[in-house]
Amino acid sequence: MFKAILIEKDDSGYRAGVKEIDEAELPAGEVGVRIAYSTINYKDGLALTGKSPVVRKFPLVAGIDFAGVVETSDDPRYRPGDAVLLNGWGVGESHWGGLAQRARVKADWLVPLPDGLSARQAMAIGTAGYTAMLCVLALEHHDIQPEAGDILVTGANGGVGSVAITLLSRLGYRVVASTGRPQEADFLRSLGAADVIAREELNSPGKPLAKERWAGVVDSVGSHTLANACAGTRYGGAVAACGLAQGMDFPASVAPFILRGVTLYGVDSVMAPLARRVAAWSRLAADLDLARLDSLTTEIPLSSAVAAGHDILAGRIRGRVVVDVNA
Ligand code: NDP
Repeated sequence: MFKAILIEKDDSGYRAGVKEIDEAELPAGEVGVRIAYSTINYKDGLALTGKSPVVRKFPLVAGIDFAGVVETSDDPRYRPGDAVLLNGWGVGESHWGGLAQRARVKADWLVPLPDGLSARQAMAIGTAGYTAMLCVLALEHHDIQPEAGDILVTGANGGVGSVAITLLSRLGYRVVASTGRPQEADFLRSLGAADVIAREELNSPGKPLAKERWAGVVDSVGSHTLANACAGTRYGGAVAACGLAQGMDFPASVAPFILRGVTLYGVDSVMAPLARRVAAWSRLAADLDLARLDSLTTEIPLSSAVAAGHDILAGRIRGRVVVDVNA
């Protein structure tokens, strides 16, 4: 038997809670993993509360990522004892997930834990931090150098935002953090933000073009914020869009793209190919300041995961939350 957060939906409604489950019930997959840590991402909040229909199969073990040790393997790439991590691929949406002490998954979905990172640190990064790295890789791909000017990070106190600030400042960029929580300005500066601006500067309908302020943008917010970020991006700059915390709409004009040659990069972590994942994780191991990662991380036991899912949707979580599934 193992403990897991099970999401159920039936005549008595939608509910999530800790359950004891027989290992024989684990879904098919080549690799069995003994999980050490999981996390709470925005999407986990949607799944745990049922606020958006991200869960497509019931009953389902929640958790879109995990880190742990291989226990059984029918795949030559993995052997018992190997340290692994997993993000996305529909795990925690349509395949049983990581908010559990055990998982069984496809070998293709796993990434070897990079040297230099513990399972806890990998999950302090989690899908949010790995997505932040994918955004940074998109800006680097666009050849935006630190001398090019300010980088805007929206949703600054969130998981994606806080890791993006930490990464970009370590890489030498001047980061401007946009937040709805000005009381957290000192925290954002401690992560490396050079400047902190109010969310309200960006979250209302704006003009097709604004003053050229940003050499690059990491946006986890979407909606008017993303539109205004594009409108304020400098000639030839780039915007990496990965989230929808404000909304899924994109009420923008083509002006920044056709008059300033701005490029909008879409960033998806869920179905990203293995090579891109391995590259992102190896850069995270090399470039992330682990002391700062620790300072933006809170740890909770499995029994607190559902409450944390409500908190993340309510904007009450700062930085990242790791879940000790064995506590
Ligand atoms: P968090 O909840 O940790 O962070 C989101 C942050 O956005 C909040 O902390 C808050 O920051 C800000 N925010 C919240 N509500 C609003 C609002 N109404 N208007 C403006 N800003 C708001 O979530 P994550 O960092 O885990 O995820 C962020 C987004 O990225 C989500 O939409 C998520 O679905 C998406 N995502 C996408 C991925 C992909 O593969 N494309 C992977 C991972 C995440 P503050 O208080 O500082 O303003």
